[in-house]
Amino acid sequence: MFPLPAPRSRFILPALFLAVTAAPCVHAAAPIDAATEVWTPVPPVINAPANGVPSDAIVLFDGKNLNEWEPLRPDAPGWKIEEGAMVVVPQPTPCDERTKRVFGDLQLHLEFREPAVVKGDGQSRGNSGVFFMGLYELQILDSVNNPTYVNGQAAAVYKEHAPLVNASRAPGEWQTYDVVFIAPRFAADGKLLSPARLTAFHNGVLVQHDVALTGPTPNGPTFHMATLPPYTAHAAKLPLSLQDHRSPVAFRNIWVRDLTLPGPAAQP
Ligand code: MG
Repeated sequence: MFPLPAPRSRFILPALFLAVTAAPCVHAAAPIDAATEVWTPVPPVINAPANGVPSDAIVLFDGKNLNEWEPLRPDAPGWKIEEGAMVVVPQPTPCDERTKRVFGDLQLHLEFREPAVVKGDGQSRGNSGVFFMGLYELQILDSVNNPTYVNGQAAAVYKEHAPLVNASRAPGEWQTYDVVFIAPRFAADGKLLSPARLTAFHNGVLVQHDVALTGPTPNGPTFHMATLPPYTAHAAKLPLSLQDHRSPVAFRNIWVRDLTLPGPAAQP
Protein backbone atom coordinates (compact mmCIF):
# COMPACT_ATOMS: atom_id res chain seq x y z
CA MET A 1 0.00 0.00 0.00
CA PHE A 2 1.19 3.44 -0.88
CA PRO A 3 -1.17 5.81 0.87
CA LEU A 4 -1.64 9.10 -0.89
CA PRO A 5 -0.30 12.05 0.90
CA ALA A 6 -2.97 13.24 3.18
CA PRO A 7 -3.35 16.71 1.68
CA ARG A 8 -3.98 15.42 -1.90
CA SER A 9 -6.39 12.60 -0.93
CA ARG A 10 -8.49 15.22 0.70
CA PHE A 11 -9.26 16.65 -2.79
CA ILE A 12 -9.22 13.51 -4.93
CA LEU A 13 -11.92 11.58 -3.11
CA PRO A 14 -14.48 14.37 -3.20
CA ALA A 15 -13.64 14.88 -6.89
CA LEU A 16 -14.30 11.20 -7.64
CA PHE A 17 -17.59 11.40 -5.75
CA LEU A 18 -18.64 14.43 -7.76
CA ALA A 19 -17.71 12.76 -11.07
CA VAL A 20 -19.83 9.72 -10.26
CA THR A 21 -22.82 11.62 -8.97
CA ALA A 22 -22.67 14.10 -11.87
CA ALA A 23 -22.94 11.31 -14.47
CA PRO A 24 -26.78 11.26 -14.44
CA CYS A 25 -26.69 14.91 -15.54
CA VAL A 26 -25.82 13.64 -19.03
CA HIS A 27 -29.20 11.89 -19.12
CA ALA A 28 -30.97 14.90 -17.76
CA ALA A 29 -31.11 16.08 -21.40
CA ALA A 30 -33.75 13.38 -22.09
CA PRO A 31 -36.73 15.73 -21.69
CA ILE A 32 -35.57 17.56 -24.84
CA ASP A 33 -35.89 14.30 -26.81
CA ALA A 34 -39.24 13.67 -25.16
CA ALA A 35 -40.57 16.84 -26.74
CA THR A 36 -40.82 14.89 -30.03
CA GLU A 37 -42.45 11.80 -28.50
CA VAL A 38 -46.21 11.36 -28.94
CA TRP A 39 -47.96 9.01 -26.51
CA THR A 40 -51.63 9.47 -27.31
CA PRO A 41 -53.95 8.53 -28.84
CA VAL A 42 -52.81 4.93 -28.57
CA PRO A 43 -53.54 2.98 -31.80
CA PRO A 44 -56.16 0.28 -31.25
CA VAL A 45 -54.75 -3.21 -30.83
CA ILE A 46 -55.98 -5.66 -33.46
CA ASN A 47 -55.03 -9.22 -34.39
CA ALA A 48 -53.42 -9.69 -37.78
CA PRO A 49 -52.91 -13.42 -38.16
CA ALA A 50 -50.52 -14.71 -40.82
CA ASN A 51 -52.35 -15.11 -44.11
CA GLY A 52 -55.61 -14.36 -42.34
CA VAL A 53 -58.24 -11.70 -41.88
CA PRO A 54 -57.51 -8.76 -39.54
CA SER A 55 -59.72 -8.78 -36.47
CA ASP A 56 -61.21 -5.37 -37.34
CA ALA A 57 -62.14 -6.39 -40.90
CA ILE A 58 -65.67 -6.86 -42.21
CA VAL A 59 -65.83 -10.18 -44.03
CA LEU A 60 -67.91 -9.75 -47.17
CA PHE A 61 -67.49 -13.28 -48.48
CA ASP A 62 -65.96 -16.33 -46.80
CA GLY A 63 -67.22 -19.00 -49.18
CA LYS A 64 -70.37 -19.84 -47.25
CA ASN A 65 -73.16 -17.50 -48.33
CA LEU A 66 -74.02 -14.27 -50.13
CA ASN A 67 -75.67 -12.65 -47.11
CA GLU A 68 -73.59 -9.48 -47.49
CA TRP A 69 -74.56 -9.09 -51.18
CA GLU A 70 -77.55 -8.32 -53.37
CA PRO A 71 -78.05 -8.10 -57.13
CA LEU A 72 -78.12 -4.56 -58.47
CA ARG A 73 -81.52 -5.34 -60.00
CA PRO A 74 -83.86 -6.86 -57.44
CA ASP A 75 -85.50 -9.10 -60.08
CA ALA A 76 -82.17 -10.65 -61.21
CA PRO A 77 -81.33 -14.18 -60.05
CA GLY A 78 -77.97 -13.18 -58.52
CA TRP A 79 -74.65 -14.97 -58.58
CA LYS A 80 -73.93 -18.51 -57.40
CA ILE A 81 -71.59 -20.16 -54.92
CA GLU A 82 -69.46 -22.90 -56.46
CA GLU A 83 -66.82 -24.77 -54.43
CA GLY A 84 -66.51 -21.90 -51.94
CA ALA A 85 -66.29 -19.22 -54.62
CA MET A 86 -68.76 -16.50 -55.57
CA VAL A 87 -69.22 -16.79 -59.34
CA VAL A 88 -70.77 -14.44 -61.89
CA VAL A 89 -73.81 -15.94 -63.57
CA PRO A 90 -73.82 -14.04 -66.86
CA GLN A 91 -77.24 -12.60 -67.62
CA PRO A 92 -78.70 -11.49 -70.98
CA THR A 93 -78.73 -8.07 -69.34
CA PRO A 94 -75.68 -8.09 -67.04
CA CYS A 95 -76.34 -7.58 -63.35
CA ASP A 96 -73.64 -6.63 -60.88
CA GLU A 97 -73.65 -7.69 -57.24
CA ARG A 98 -73.30 -5.01 -54.59
CA THR A 99 -72.77 -4.99 -50.87
CA LYS A 100 -75.70 -4.30 -48.59
CA ARG A 101 -73.32 -2.21 -46.46
CA VAL A 102 -72.00 1.15 -47.59
CA PHE A 103 -68.38 2.30 -47.50
CA GLY A 104 -66.31 5.43 -48.04
CA ASP A 105 -62.57 5.15 -47.40
CA LEU A 106 -61.58 1.53 -47.14
CA GLN A 107 -58.94 -1.14 -47.39
CA LEU A 108 -60.03 -4.08 -49.54
CA HIS A 109 -58.68 -7.58 -50.01
CA LEU A 110 -60.20 -9.89 -52.56
CA GLU A 111 -59.19 -12.89 -54.60
CA PHE A 112 -60.44 -13.57 -58.12
CA ARG A 113 -60.00 -16.26 -60.72
CA GLU A 114 -60.29 -15.89 -64.46
CA PRO A 115 -62.03 -18.77 -66.29
CA ALA A 116 -59.56 -21.57 -67.04
CA VAL A 117 -61.13 -22.00 -70.45
CA VAL A 118 -60.01 -18.96 -72.40
CA LYS A 119 -62.81 -17.42 -74.41
CA GLY A 120 -62.98 -14.14 -76.32
CA ASP A 121 -60.42 -11.42 -76.85
CA GLY A 122 -59.65 -7.98 -75.48
CA GLN A 123 -62.39 -6.65 -73.24
CA SER A 124 -64.48 -9.79 -73.84
CA ARG A 125 -62.01 -12.11 -72.06
CA GLY A 126 -62.66 -12.59 -68.37
CA ASN A 127 -63.95 -9.08 -67.80
CA SER A 128 -65.25 -8.05 -64.39
CA GLY A 129 -64.27 -5.27 -62.02
CA VAL A 130 -64.42 -3.87 -58.52
CA PHE A 131 -66.49 -0.70 -58.36
CA PHE A 132 -65.65 1.37 -55.28
CA MET A 133 -68.78 3.26 -54.24
CA GLY A 134 -70.39 1.59 -57.28
CA LEU A 135 -68.74 4.27 -59.43
CA TYR A 136 -64.96 3.88 -59.59
CA GLU A 137 -63.74 0.69 -61.29
CA LEU A 138 -60.52 -1.21 -60.75
CA GLN A 139 -60.57 -3.44 -63.82
CA ILE A 140 -60.55 -7.23 -63.71
CA LEU A 141 -59.59 -8.85 -67.01
CA ASP A 142 -57.67 -11.86 -68.27
CA SER A 143 -54.62 -9.87 -69.33
CA VAL A 144 -52.31 -12.79 -70.13
CA ASN A 145 -51.43 -12.54 -73.83
CA ASN A 146 -54.54 -10.47 -74.41
CA PRO A 147 -53.78 -7.07 -75.94
CA THR A 148 -56.25 -4.28 -75.31
CA TYR A 149 -56.02 -0.58 -74.50
CA VAL A 150 -53.64 -0.37 -71.54
CA ASN A 151 -55.93 1.77 -69.43
CA GLY A 152 -58.47 -1.05 -69.73
CA GLN A 153 -56.28 -4.06 -68.88
CA ALA A 154 -56.24 -5.86 -65.54
CA ALA A 155 -55.54 -3.55 -62.56
CA ALA A 156 -56.27 -0.40 -64.58
CA VAL A 157 -58.44 2.28 -63.04
CA TYR A 158 -60.71 1.86 -66.01
CA LYS A 159 -59.84 4.34 -68.78
CA GLU A 160 -58.08 6.60 -66.27
CA HIS A 161 -54.84 4.94 -65.15
CA ALA A 162 -52.98 1.99 -66.69
CA PRO A 163 -51.29 -0.26 -64.12
CA LEU A 164 -47.57 0.23 -63.47
CA VAL A 165 -46.93 -3.40 -64.47
CA ASN A 166 -48.95 -6.37 -65.68
CA ALA A 167 -48.76 -8.79 -62.73
CA SER A 168 -51.47 -11.14 -64.06
CA ARG A 169 -51.41 -14.85 -63.38
CA ALA A 170 -52.55 -17.52 -65.82
CA PRO A 171 -56.28 -18.12 -66.34
CA GLY A 172 -57.60 -20.59 -63.77
CA GLU A 173 -55.17 -19.41 -61.05
CA TRP A 174 -56.30 -17.42 -58.02
CA GLN A 175 -55.09 -13.81 -57.92
CA THR A 176 -55.28 -11.07 -55.32
CA TYR A 177 -56.10 -7.39 -55.19
CA ASP A 178 -55.23 -5.33 -52.13
CA VAL A 179 -56.47 -1.79 -52.38
CA VAL A 180 -56.68 1.41 -50.37
CA PHE A 181 -59.46 3.58 -51.73
CA ILE A 182 -60.03 7.13 -50.52
CA ALA A 183 -63.46 8.52 -51.30
CA PRO A 184 -63.83 11.91 -52.95
CA ARG A 185 -64.95 14.77 -50.72
CA PHE A 186 -67.63 17.23 -51.76
CA ALA A 187 -68.66 20.56 -50.27
CA ALA A 188 -72.27 21.08 -49.23
CA ASP A 189 -72.87 22.90 -52.54
CA GLY A 190 -71.61 19.88 -54.50
CA LYS A 191 -68.22 21.32 -55.38
CA LEU A 192 -65.41 18.77 -55.45
CA LEU A 193 -63.06 19.31 -52.51
CA SER A 194 -60.70 16.41 -53.23
CA PRO A 195 -60.78 13.60 -55.80
CA ALA A 196 -60.95 9.89 -55.08
CA ARG A 197 -57.51 8.31 -54.67
CA LEU A 198 -56.44 4.72 -55.02
CA THR A 199 -53.42 2.56 -54.29
CA ALA A 200 -53.50 -1.07 -55.43
CA PHE A 201 -51.39 -4.20 -55.28
CA HIS A 202 -52.02 -7.02 -57.79
CA ASN A 203 -50.70 -10.37 -56.58
CA GLY A 204 -48.65 -8.42 -54.02
CA VAL A 205 -47.13 -6.07 -56.63
CA LEU A 206 -47.73 -2.31 -56.61
CA VAL A 207 -49.79 -1.45 -59.68
CA GLN A 208 -51.45 1.85 -58.74
CA HIS A 209 -49.68 4.34 -56.48
CA ASP A 210 -51.96 6.92 -54.92
CA VAL A 211 -53.53 7.91 -58.24
CA ALA A 212 -56.14 10.66 -58.32
CA LEU A 213 -59.28 9.72 -60.18
CA THR A 214 -60.63 12.20 -62.71
CA GLY A 215 -64.20 11.19 -61.90
CA PRO A 216 -66.38 8.07 -62.11
CA THR A 217 -65.00 5.50 -64.55
CA PRO A 218 -67.09 5.12 -67.73
CA ASN A 219 -69.81 2.53 -67.32
CA GLY A 220 -73.44 2.08 -68.28
CA PRO A 221 -74.91 5.31 -69.66
CA THR A 222 -71.53 7.08 -69.53
CA PHE A 223 -69.64 4.33 -71.38
CA HIS A 224 -70.08 5.70 -74.88
CA MET A 225 -69.25 9.31 -74.07
CA ALA A 226 -66.31 10.80 -75.99
CA THR A 227 -64.89 12.20 -72.77
CA LEU A 228 -64.60 10.76 -69.30
CA PRO A 229 -67.50 11.58 -66.99
CA PRO A 230 -66.94 14.37 -64.45
CA TYR A 231 -67.57 14.11 -60.73
CA THR A 232 -71.10 14.53 -59.48
CA ALA A 233 -71.57 14.96 -55.74
CA HIS A 234 -72.75 11.83 -54.00
CA ALA A 235 -73.14 10.35 -50.53
CA ALA A 236 -70.07 9.92 -48.33
CA LYS A 237 -70.65 6.15 -48.25
CA LEU A 238 -72.04 3.88 -50.98
CA PRO A 239 -72.07 0.12 -51.71
CA LEU A 240 -69.07 -1.65 -53.21
CA SER A 241 -69.97 -3.64 -56.33
CA LEU A 242 -68.53 -6.43 -58.47
CA GLN A 243 -69.16 -6.37 -62.20
CA ASP A 244 -71.04 -8.88 -64.33
CA HIS A 245 -69.48 -8.40 -67.76
CA ARG A 246 -70.75 -11.69 -69.18
CA SER A 247 -67.68 -13.66 -68.01
CA PRO A 248 -67.91 -16.33 -65.28
CA VAL A 249 -65.22 -14.77 -63.07
CA ALA A 250 -64.99 -16.25 -59.55
CA PHE A 251 -64.27 -14.47 -56.24
CA ARG A 252 -63.30 -15.62 -52.77
CA ASN A 253 -61.95 -14.31 -49.47
CA ILE A 254 -63.31 -10.78 -49.69
CA TRP A 255 -62.88 -8.46 -46.71
CA VAL A 256 -62.70 -4.77 -46.10
CA ARG A 257 -61.53 -2.51 -43.31
CA ASP A 258 -63.72 0.54 -42.99
CA LEU A 259 -61.44 3.58 -42.77
CA THR A 260 -62.01 7.25 -42.27
CA LEU A 261 -58.76 8.87 -43.23
CA PRO A 262 -57.92 12.56 -42.80
CA GLY A 263 -58.97 14.82 -45.64
CA PRO A 264 -61.19 17.77 -46.42
CA ALA A 265 -64.41 17.59 -44.47
CA ALA A 266 -66.91 15.25 -46.07
CA GLN A 267 -70.49 16.31 -46.50
CA PRO A 268 -72.82 15.33 -43.65
MG1 MG B 1 -64.66 -4.42 -66.14
